[in-house]
Amino acid sequence: MNEARAPIVMVFAGHDPCGGAGIQADIETLTSLGCHPCTVITALTAQDTSGVKDFQPVQATFLVEQARAVLEDMPVAAFKIGMTASQDIIEAIHTLLQDYADIPVVFDPVMAAGGGGSLAREHLIEAFHDLLIPCASIITPNTVEAKALCSDADSLDACAQQLMAQGAEYVLITGGHEATPKIENRLWGHRQFLESYQQERTPGEFHGTGCTLASSIAGYLAHGATMPSAVRDAQTYTAKAVAHGRRLGMGQLIPDRLSWSSKHL
Ligand code: PLP
Repeated sequence: MNEARAPIVMVFAGHDPCGGAGIQADIETLTSLGCHPCTVITALTAQDTSGVKDFQPVQATFLVEQARAVLEDMPVAAFKIGMTASQDIIEAIHTLLQDYADIPVVFDPVMAAGGGGSLAREHLIEAFHDLLIPCASIITPNTVEAKALCSDADSLDACAQQLMAQGAEYVLITGGHEATPKIENRLWGHRQFLESYQQERTPGEFHGTGCTLASSIAGYLAHGATMPSAVRDAQTYTAKAVAHGRRLGMGQLIPDRLSWSSKHL
């Protein structure tokens, strides 16, 4: 029997059958980083690399049953929350997190796919504010999501301050969706601005970058990294996966989260 342990990350996210985003992105990322992902699926989606056609949230009571079974069996080192799909599921995840308040939570507030289609059954912003943001060790909105979450804030700094006032310990606002030549991501923590990261933009549009970034932060945290170090390393990891992105369908490219493994083929 091999007693070597991989840090365990529990992921709450949706399934994307084209394998670009959602739970598959999380599994590839976390496995690649030497973690063991435990995956609790929040919703099934019908989508391709161009957009979302439909989605179906799971039953919240069954989601709780799945998560509790694993949490009582395995020592989870970090949680990652992606697509939540419905108010019921947000309430269920909130209830679970109350019982495991010491475990770090990476919250990617998914409302829509990168290609634009909605991934939320109702208007989830209020439930995000009331139930998930107060539990978040870090929230990782892109600029579009940050502005939607804090519609009365007049700057990204004001958005971040509002999210921290609601209980998020750290806020990483990503700039991949902006029309700037370089990508600028910004990190706030403990009520202050901490760091701005500039990255060269890889040409093209990519599916599942937000999932990759949030999961890699959770993976590094599960290995024991501090938040600023996890955020830095996760950006490097995501940029590499994107740089090795492949055109596998007719729409967005899919990051290669296992790019290192092709060297061994
Ligand atoms: N989660 C699921 C299940 C998705 O299908 C998507 C996008 O299609 C996302 C999350 C968000 O993807 P991204 O990482 O591109 O923001």
